[in-house]
Amino acid sequence: MFHLQFMSLRMENESDAGVSARAQRKAQDKAKILQRENQRKIFKLVAKILKKQESERTQEESADLLQHRDTVQELSSRQVRRNVLKRKQEEVFDDSEELRFKVGQLAEGVRQAQHLVIYTGAGISTSASIPDYRGPNGVWTLLQKGQPVSSSDLSEAEPTLTHMCIRMLHKEKMVQHVVSQNCDGLHLRSGLPRHALSELHGNMFIEVCTSCSPAREYVRLFDVTERTARHRHGTGRRCVHCGAELGDTIVHFGERGTLEHPLNWRGASEAAERADVILCLGSSLKVLKKYSCLWSMNKPANRRPKLYIVNLQWTPKDDLATLKIHGKCDDVMRVLMEDLNIQIPAYNKMEDPIFSLATPLRLEEEDSHSRKVIAQSAGSEGSREQTGGGAVHGGWFGKGYSKGRTKKKKKV
Ligand SMILES: [Zn+2]
Repeated sequence: MFHLQFMSLRMENESDAGVSARAQRKAQDKAKILQRENQRKIFKLVAKILKKQESERTQEESADLLQHRDTVQELSSRQVRRNVLKRKQEEVFDDSEELRFKVGQLAEGVRQAQHLVIYTGAGISTSASIPDYRGPNGVWTLLQKGQPVSSSDLSEAEPTLTHMCIRMLHKEKMVQHVVSQNCDGLHLRSGLPRHALSELHGNMFIEVCTSCSPAREYVRLFDVTERTARHRHGTGRRCVHCGAELGDTIVHFGERGTLEHPLNWRGASEAAERADVILCLGSSLKVLKKYSCLWSMNKPANRRPKLYIVNLQWTPKDDLATLKIHGKCDDVMRVLMEDLNIQIPAYNKMEDPIFSLATPLRLEEEDSHSRKVIAQSAGSEGSREQTGGGAVHGGWFGKGYSKGRTKKKKKV
């Protein structure tokens, strides 16, 4: 009996404690809400006062600002952050006079360079109707907004004026090495020798056998990536020598590329090490900046290479640049070549090295892909047809740039 009574007493006590703990929590929550509400009111008040000119503020308002100094600071730093973000995304164009003046300076820099290395990004291929990634209509920007990505057939693209200028500058020994983020293979197709090129993120026309040692390369005349993706690189075709499955060479977001070719990291880091001038063309540098070996940051600031940047948008290296040119790559390169008095060669399909590098498919492999094959047909010399708009399905293009978000595919 006593025992039972004791039990019930204890239960009562416990439920009492439960009630008071709950009440306490509730009170705490309420206090928190009130505090937040209060904070919001202060923010609103301060924001309103800050909108006024200093001379228009009443004494009371000025006192409010003094009282809520932390809020004033927070709000103004938020505004600064917003402005910076907005400015970074805007495309800026230097007017033609400024562009000409700046390119003059660039030409001087190129002439004086002992070891000039060029870093290229999607911006040099946009005129080949390959959209860039982070521009206002870039693949990445569209994917982030949940909009479908559409483009003309990427295999139709041909080297742009900028690709041809770079090849020529290399031929004239004014450029020693080219490091590219682009997978479109256009540097190679412009005739730039392979030893002078590092395609850090791969080449859509190259598949490799990594079972052979050294890795065996197969250059194809079509995009080999239609079935591949992040962490899934098998192309379905096999090595003629050892029978192992071939893989594409594309390096996706979050992957680490270790292939010697076409990535050629050794060539890139040696070139960066020796460079006294680096010219960045059409890259936001957001990815390239992460590759520390490209920027000689281990050297004291006065011994690092001079940096020239050509890009419409802000880049994280702008503050370190000797010169930033806001212009389209083709426009800048045209003026640069004029200043340097070098003729710009037209792209000539008949001389496109991809045709001599390519390994033909074996008979049984003919049906192993559905991508368009580049044809070396006569009469297409220098043609730059703008073919319009089917959606891109599968392959390297745009993949991985949405960081795991599902890509909205456009059905055709
Ligand atoms: Zn093999």
